[in-house]
Amino acid sequence: MRSGAGKFAFGKSVYFAGHSWHNYDVPGKSDAARNKMSPAERKLRSELTRLLYSEGMLRGNLSLRERTCGKPTCHCMTRGDKHQALYVVLRDEGEFRQVFVPRHLHDVVRKWVENHKRSRDLLEAISKLHYEKIRKREL
Ligand SMILES: [Zn+2]
Repeated sequence: MRSGAGKFAFGKSVYFAGHSWHNYDVPGKSDAARNKMSPAERKLRSELTRLLYSEGMLRGNLSLRERTCGKPTCHCMTRGDKHQALYVVLRDEGEFRQVFVPRHLHDVVRKWVENHKRSRDLLEAISKLHYEKIRKREL
């Protein structure tokens, strides 16, 4: 979104967390130059994109709990073979939340939690690259 070459143009003003930001088109560099990616960045973005498009993700921790049900004849009492229950636990806006995961969903939900952790790591790695771009004036 650029107007005349060689002069600043006001982009759209956006609100973010209560602050107004103006996006400027910086003259002198094409979008292609600005968007130039290192192979490392391309690899990170590619993996993140694959995760975003192909699989579920869930922020939370898995908690496997074991209990006895109290029936004296049950295997949990007679053999010490306790019942297992998987939960996803997380904090949401300061509130502690948890949800029981039925057995048939264990593998799927484990994968979602793993995908979220991996995505968060990838985002962080991409963010670090951009921090370095500013520091090294590689824009
Ligand atoms: Zn039992």
